[in-house]
Amino acid sequence: MTVCSTDSSVASPFSATGDAYAPYLTARNWIGQQWCDPSSPTTTQEVLNPRFGKSIAQVRMGSSADVDLAVQSGAVAARAWSKWPIRDRAHVFYRLRELMVTNLEELSWLLSHENGKIFSEAKAEVEKGIECVEYGCSLPNLAAGNQLEVSRGVACEVVYDSLGVVAGITPFNFPMMVPLWMLPQAIVGGNAFILKPSERVPLSTMRLAELLKQAGLPAGVFNIVQGGRDVVEALCDHAGIRAVGFVGSTKVARLVYARASAQGKRALCLGGAKNHLIVVPDADLELTAENVVASFTGCAGQRCMAASVLLAVGDVDHILASVRDRAARITPGKDLGPVTTQAARDRIVHFIDAAERAGARIVLDGRRATADVGGFWVGPTIIDHVTTDMAVAHDEIFGPVLSVIRVPTIERAIEIENASPYGNASSIYTSSGDIARRVMASVDAGMCGVNIGVPVPREPFGFGGWNDSCFGHGNITGWDGYRFWTRQRKITSKWALQHDRTWMS
Ligand code: NAD
Repeated sequence: MTVCSTDSSVASPFSATGDAYAPYLTARNWIGQQWCDPSSPTTTQEVLNPRFGKSIAQVRMGSSADVDLAVQSGAVAARAWSKWPIRDRAHVFYRLRELMVTNLEELSWLLSHENGKIFSEAKAEVEKGIECVEYGCSLPNLAAGNQLEVSRGVACEVVYDSLGVVAGITPFNFPMMVPLWMLPQAIVGGNAFILKPSERVPLSTMRLAELLKQAGLPAGVFNIVQGGRDVVEALCDHAGIRAVGFVGSTKVARLVYARASAQGKRALCLGGAKNHLIVVPDADLELTAENVVASFTGCAGQRCMAASVLLAVGDVDHILASVRDRAARITPGKDLGPVTTQAARDRIVHFIDAAERAGARIVLDGRRATADVGGFWVGPTIIDHVTTDMAVAHDEIFGPVLSVIRVPTIERAIEIENASPYGNASSIYTSSGDIARRVMASVDAGMCGVNIGVPVPREPFGFGGWNDSCFGHGNITGWDGYRFWTRQRKITSKWALQHDRTWMS
């Protein structure tokens, strides 16, 4: 028996305006614009603030029965919503944008507390989410179909139709931005959307649900089902869901892609990464050092676009020394947040220990870092003289750790980068246009940077990697996102008998 409530205090504004510990409310399902407990007895999981390692909320884990309720609610809502003119659908996102701007500080503090990233990073994430919403606002201008007279008196037209009920499954590291990679295109495209956020960070999107309601989104167009693997599998299997977007680790991306595709659904599943930065001797010292440090330490290295391996070509010791000096000045707790769980901390430390045992040199050691009491801390760590057989050279570490591999030539650097099964991001640091062009033409990665360590293609460009970093076709944001969440109806019409007969007559 499902118990629901329209009481908006279930997701009332978060009170904290600083880092000090603050609890929040229990995370529930959002179905038909009501906060619902799971329909069958279920487990409850703690939501930890990683800064203190202490619970700030609980999440009630849903099941396949809750997915079914969300699909029923979405199916009814989608029938009416898809009939709204696209301009009216986009207007909801205009209002959402204003509400997000007005509540920017509160949303950022909530995100910072549930995820652990420092306030400036949390705020940047909400601002990036706002950019995604702005892209959704522009869709009426972009989604005008094409029409052409293909034969005398015969016109072909393309229009973008909604799919119906669609779903998105998101990771812990961007609780607000990653859901907003999907929601604007899917919802402005006329669909009803079911979100399954990471059970580690279920709180920010509860506030987003309330803001979407305030912005005028009809009940049932946006639903949330909280939970883990059971809910993900039910979303893949449910016959009423037409498309699944996923962002998370490669292991789960592969599973979700296979399972959803086997049910005949569209699936686009973004996975993990191992990003390489190639540094050559002519690189600008200041720019490179500042940028490399920001890339591997930002969000405590928990970004799928973070620098992971630095391929040092020839003598770049002066640049490496500057990278080390800058990274050593970072203060955990102030400039750097914690990692997500104790298990994540242990895994990262294990990687560093193993590299040291195998003969690599730890030139900056974050293993003993602490900040606030009880949290999950790893400080910036640089491992030099890494060899390609070490785990730190090829596995995703997902922490503030930079592995330096020394190589004699750019060709060898490209060879190492291209041997990685991943293909998310790759960057070159140089002041030579010729070197930049050659490297950009050769690396096997979907998002490439020249003197940029986090080469995220911002709106209106599409975000998406290659190889084991993405299963499915295309990018998840930008125009590809709109095409993923819609289907093209092709209409061919003729209004009068034509006398010049062709094969179309
Ligand atoms: P994860 O794969 O553990 O979890 C992602 C989602 O899948 C969560 O909602 C989780 O509940 C669910 N899930 C977990 N295990 C599952 C299972 N066995 N079956 C079905 N569902 C399952 O990822 P995470 O730890 O939350 O996030 C970090 C990972 O996400 C990193 O690998 C990172 O590189 C990747 N990531 C990739 C991108 C990208 O754009 N390519 C962006 C952000 C994060």
